[in-house]
Amino acid sequence: MKILSVNAGSSSLKFQLFEMPEEKVIASGKIERIGLPASIITVKTNGEKRCKEKNVHDHAEAVQELLALLLDLKIVASLDEIKGVGHRVVHGGEKFSDSVLITDEVIAEIDKLSELAPLHNPANLIGIQAFKQVLPNAKQVAVFDTAFHQTMPIESYLYPTPYSWYEKYGIRRYGFHGTSHKYVSERAYKLLGKGPEGTKLITIHLGNGASVTAIKDGKSIETSMGFTPLAGLMMGTRSGDVDPSILPFAMQKENCTFEEALNALNYESGLKGISLISSDMRDILKGVNEGNRQCILAFNLYVKRVCDYIGQYYILLGGCDALVFTAGIGENSGQTRQAIIDRLGVLEIRLDAEANQVMGQECVVSTSDSKIKVLVIPTNEELVIARDTLRLIS
Ligand code: ADP
Repeated sequence: MKILSVNAGSSSLKFQLFEMPEEKVIASGKIERIGLPASIITVKTNGEKRCKEKNVHDHAEAVQELLALLLDLKIVASLDEIKGVGHRVVHGGEKFSDSVLITDEVIAEIDKLSELAPLHNPANLIGIQAFKQVLPNAKQVAVFDTAFHQTMPIESYLYPTPYSWYEKYGIRRYGFHGTSHKYVSERAYKLLGKGPEGTKLITIHLGNGASVTAIKDGKSIETSMGFTPLAGLMMGTRSGDVDPSILPFAMQKENCTFEEALNALNYESGLKGISLISSDMRDILKGVNEGNRQCILAFNLYVKRVCDYIGQYYILLGGCDALVFTAGIGENSGQTRQAIIDRLGVLEIRLDAEANQVMGQECVVSTSDSKIKVLVIPTNEELVIARDTLRLIS
């Protein structure tokens, strides 16, 4: 059975087409610059990449283009072969603790939750509506970034703000990247040869966005992102946790609006803000290795903040069986992993220098005498979406 895994953003739509339950990727690709001149459509199949430039005005047109390409390239003989479409939805609030079949009620709920994720949920909904229109016979499923973290205890998710804010407006920690943390934790149990029961993991997702999660008995018990994905670790362009009083102070000093100050925390901070050159870890590492002072400062701040969370979660979990690194930086940068482990000296973790050279492959990178195992596990959110879609439509 063919299942499409879809990630719709405000001006892009990424997809992977799976043959399920074999979990074979038949095609993947993306449509970028939707609504802008010269949109770019890229499809990869059988190791071959094809690109096409065309004006794609909206998401409905993007979906039509994509499906036409799947037919043209004979990736599918008929659109009826696609039995399910799984959508990444960023915010599921307190309503969704698992993936769900999409109904009109679910669409209304996702729409209601747009208030909590104004950049993401509306774009995800446009993707859902577009597929509903073009593939009316395929079943659709929503997979939420927040769902995995719904197991957090109240002490982890409640902020010490007025309680009425939580009751009236749902102001609390939700956490994100849940699909990724869930996927790598499940792979970790396989690699460790242990079940989730009694196993304590700290999963460290370091991409452009970044978050850390403490997982006990297969459940998320605390995570670093909060009410929004701005919280927690220092990221590519996001500050992570800062004192909220910085906002009005900076507004006054910089003579800027609230939106401008908030944009500075979202888009001009993190690695980019401190290094003064780039949000991309590859550029930062190049700078570090060339002795660039700002890059060294950015890298050290980044590493320190990851370690702060690992230390905190080690205490919260009452120990830890394995640290799991994932996403662009976590999967590919041995230098970053090494710097993090070096700073955690008291935990007596030892990396195998040779194994730690690994890039983008599942691997145990700690030595056999390390007090805590260290794993590198490439994340695969698209596969989780396809699996959940298969589970819910079967
Ligand atoms: P996103 O959150 O957009 O999905 P990714 O998971 O693709 O992001 O991660 C992007 C980050 O991974 C960037 O900072 C990039 O520099 C970093 N990255 C990718 N490859 C490497 C590498 N070989 N070494 C260091 N960093 C890398």
